[in-house]
Amino acid sequence: MILVMKNGASEDSIKKTSQQIQDWGHKVTISKGEHQTVIGIIGDKQDLLGKPLQTLPEVEKVLEVSAPYKKASREFKPNDTVIEVEGIKIGGGHRSIIAGPCSVDTYDNLIKTAKAVKKAGATMLRGGAFKPRTSPYSFQGKGEEGLKMLVEAKKETGLPIVTELMSEKDIDLVYQYTDIVQIGARNMQNFALLKEIGKLGKPVILKNGIASTVKEHLMSVEYVLSGGLDDVIICLRGTRTYETAMRNTLDVNLVPYIQELTHLPVIVDPSHAAGKREFVSSLAYAGMAIGADGAIIEVHPCPSCALSDGDQALLPEDFQYLMDKLNKLEIWNQKDWNQKLNSN
Ligand code: PEP
Ligand code: MN
Repeated sequence: MILVMKNGASEDSIKKTSQQIQDWGHKVTISKGEHQTVIGIIGDKQDLLGKPLQTLPEVEKVLEVSAPYKKASREFKPNDTVIEVEGIKIGGGHRSIIAGPCSVDTYDNLIKTAKAVKKAGATMLRGGAFKPRTSPYSFQGKGEEGLKMLVEAKKETGLPIVTELMSEKDIDLVYQYTDIVQIGARNMQNFALLKEIGKLGKPVILKNGIASTVKEHLMSVEYVLSGGLDDVIICLRGTRTYETAMRNTLDVNLVPYIQELTHLPVIVDPSHAAGKREFVSSLAYAGMAIGADGAIIEVHPCPSCALSDGDQALLPEDFQYLMDKLNKLEIWNQKDWNQKLNSN
């Protein structure tokens, strides 16, 4: 349920109203707009319906959230969510580029990559220590040794760490080292895992499934939010379609579309979408131009030596070139455009 407060409702009324709801045992999320404040309530609907919500100080209307992904929806929280990790912000106009190898292999490669991406302007370091591979005989990741290397690279560069968590059994281990937890395409509907990480404190990047719909993706986001966590970054990593020319299809349409449906940051992963090095930068450029809040990009100093996804790894100098282009990019502002359309 949401309470829309009257235009210009006082701080005192907002406080009293939200306090009353909390006293009834429900959680609230306050979203302050330019003119109106919206109070989102998470709680048992039957219980809430029995309460005199409409009579609370300066409440204009009481509405039910129509989207099935309640907490993720813009109805519930009209303002953009800004996620902050070690001083790096993402969402609400703050853009962040996450870069690094697909999988952590040698310390030398990792540190070279981390330094190069930092110099080029990346704000976070990615690197997999637990890898979801199609074949059980392929390299599965370095495990804890890889996580330790990421921490060393963070010490050297100051870049916060993004790494993938694949299984509930590795939660304690991965949470010991990472700053942001990545949940990959293959685990998008691992509901048990999503529920667990929603109860923990670290921000989560949740990628779309191999062939998931937007609704399925957002329902998975909702699983994480329902645990209590507010910080989820939605990542579009390409979808499997009937088109087999490239690894996947990056649906850039979905960037502004999902940003309208939710308040959460939306990033693109051009590496897993393209699957081929020569198209990664163009897809990253398109994704950022249309207004993504960031991108996660694979970079490796020796793609032919990489233990996974070498074909789609940018060389550090290619990444630098891309970042130089992105710095000059004029970004489409969908909110301004919508306002213009509405004022016509
Ligand atoms: C990855 O980020 O290296 C990865 C395995 O991604 P995805 O889950 O999108 O395939
Ligand atoms: Mn990869």
